[in-house]
Amino acid sequence: MSFRHEKEKAVNVQVLLRCRPFSDEELRNNAPQVVTCNDFQREVAVSQTIAGKQIDRIFTFDKVFGPSAKQRDLYDQAVIPIVNEVLEGFNCTIFAYGQTGTGKTYTMEGECRRSKSGPNGQLPSDAGVIPRAVKQIFDTLESQNAEYSVKVTFLELYNEEITDLLAPEEISKVVLEEKQKKALPLMEDGKGGVLVRGLEEEIVTSANEIFYLLERGSAKRRTAETLLNKQSSRSHSLFSITIHIKEATPEGEELIKCGKLNLVDLAGSENICRSGAREGRAREAGEINKSLLTLGRVITALVEHLGHIPYRDSKLTRLLRDSLGGRTKTCIIATVSPSVHCLEETLSTLDYAHRAK
Ligand code: ADP
Ligand code: MG
Repeated sequence: MSFRHEKEKAVNVQVLLRCRPFSDEELRNNAPQVVTCNDFQREVAVSQTIAGKQIDRIFTFDKVFGPSAKQRDLYDQAVIPIVNEVLEGFNCTIFAYGQTGTGKTYTMEGECRRSKSGPNGQLPSDAGVIPRAVKQIFDTLESQNAEYSVKVTFLELYNEEITDLLAPEEISKVVLEEKQKKALPLMEDGKGGVLVRGLEEEIVTSANEIFYLLERGSAKRRTAETLLNKQSSRSHSLFSITIHIKEATPEGEELIKCGKLNLVDLAGSENICRSGAREGRAREAGEINKSLLTLGRVITALVEHLGHIPYRDSKLTRLLRDSLGGRTKTCIIATVSPSVHCLEETLSTLDYAHRAK
């Protein structure tokens, strides 16, 4: 019995570390490698030379995926159990956290334009977490003899303003600027949750439909970025899949299970790391990434069982309130580069991610 009690109290936050391979540019410049992963021991070592002495710092995570780990390895080892939980009717969230250019979007989406499943339903090998999760969800639902419905939403959060990435509209500078002025409002729904007024909820009946929406949303994000001179490194994207499954209990009663999976590609972590440094700009930078800062505080409060969880302090944490804490699973995938040029940010990412454990 005490085991059960322990289990109920435990907070389900899993922290994974992924280090990408060297990029072509890093290879051309012969960038020294400072990050070494030991996937088996779940350890990451960072070597630094301070005053002529080499100092190694070692961090341990729930799982470590070194440069040779494939999209499929990460999915099979870390994500399958989370999606199973969603199919059982729970809310779960997966975050990609890290410096810009370290593989957050690669990990979450992969080569999204080619993620349509082929004739035999196979995904390309570089498909990321989102297409793989969608496939697992539909494969499971289609193999069960139960009624179900699946809905998706896809939004972007930039400067604490919400934009719908699925809204079917023409993409021009004028339309986008108009839209920005009236960003979608986030309101309390009176039942302890929140809702984004005017957000498109697409009902989908097959994995291919979701791949199409994902592609459309990502393309819109890229176009808006170019037209409005935004920096994608400062925005968060949130892709949510809500599943309702109608089942009959052995007693013949009807049971509805509702689970939600949130997949979050966070703003580049360099946006918060530097914000504290320069006094004058600190507030501005804090405003820009209030959501990233608050997310860190919410996770720390959950992990440390603090009484007050500051969900209300940012849009992202308000949006995810029903999926963080309680009977939910949270997974943070921290991404880093192996190169010496990213050393400072890599250490910040490792410290941040390690605190969340
Ligand atoms: P971020 O979203 O964190 O800014 P990206 O996902 O855009 O970073 O990745 C930057 C570049 O590195 C992209 O060209 C991407 O394809 C490549 N990349 C990232 N992670 C990996 C990986 N694990 N394996 C191969 N290429 C990767
Ligand atoms: Mg990205």
